[in-house]
Amino acid sequence: MLVRSNLKKELADVSGIVLRTAQMPNEVIDACPNLQIIARHGVGYDNVDLSYLNKKKIALGVTGTANAVSVAEHVMTFFLQLTKNIHLSDELTRKGKFQEKGNLPSFFELYQKNVLILGFGRIGQAVAKRCLGFEMNVYVYDPYVSKDTIEKMGCHSISIEDSLKLADFVSVHLPLNDETKNFINAKSFQEMKDSCVIVNTARGGIINEQDLYQALKDKKLRAAGLDVYEQEPPPSDHPLFDLSNVLLTPHNAALTLECRMRMAVEVCETVSFYLKNKEKLNLQNIINRKELGI
Ligand code: NAD
Repeated sequence: MLVRSNLKKELADVSGIVLRTAQMPNEVIDACPNLQIIARHGVGYDNVDLSYLNKKKIALGVTGTANAVSVAEHVMTFFLQLTKNIHLSDELTRKGKFQEKGNLPSFFELYQKNVLILGFGRIGQAVAKRCLGFEMNVYVYDPYVSKDTIEKMGCHSISIEDSLKLADFVSVHLPLNDETKNFINAKSFQEMKDSCVIVNTARGGIINEQDLYQALKDKKLRAAGLDVYEQEPPPSDHPLFDLSNVLLTPHNAALTLECRMRMAVEVCETVSFYLKNKEKLNLQNIINRKELGI
């Protein structure tokens, strides 16, 4: 409450607000009569009430072009670590067990494996480019992107029914909404290969976490990498914490130093161009541009 009343006092005269991860309550927005834009680091905007902003004709900005490379590299790191388990080789070498390398579990290549990318937007496309660099066969499921666009990038467009059974790797890059909640669930895991590796850097809840836990526990999947969770932070007794075939990061895929710098610049440009120089504004960064008629 103290924070809210401070915010209401300090922000009373502002025209633009830059928001990171904090919640922006509507009562603070009400206390800023001159407010024209709220712009946030990142591309998600679960911490603001978009319909309220639309009602008040306040723009909502994001940093759409800043994140993709960092998140895509995070995905490749998950793929590589989950197939090669480098930490086991490191441990063995440090323990002086160099000659026992034959006892390590099998590890694998990405080369010529089938990767399924769910969602072919900014991040999905950045992941595709990197997978092609590893000479993987890249399959894309995104009914909102034309087959032509997908094929021009050297990838194959595929239906969800056909895709799950052929994938060796799956990477999720969908938005979370009513259509995509629990998109990957127990039924999907039944269709997938037992050797499949799945990675979610998009939003928790697109993969049903309980079903994922069961599939990993029953070895219906080789491994999973998660940067995002149904509840963030996840509870300290989360069942996934007990499994060794899952790699977990704290929603920091986009937090490389370079990405943080790009987001900081892009978010300030968005606010300043929106207020003072609309010609330079990247309209794609304004989520409610249609509602505002710009
Ligand atoms: P984007 O809007 O550029 O792309 C999303 C793609 O998903 C679009 O091409 C859209 O057509 C497709 N899509 C939507 N609904 C679909 C459906 N039902 N089936 C198949 N495809 C569908 O988004 P982006 O910037 O690439 O971000 C992707 C995800 O990554 C989002 O969930 C975003 O919140 C998340 N994200 C996470 C981090 C992180 O730190 N882990 C950082 C940035 C973004």
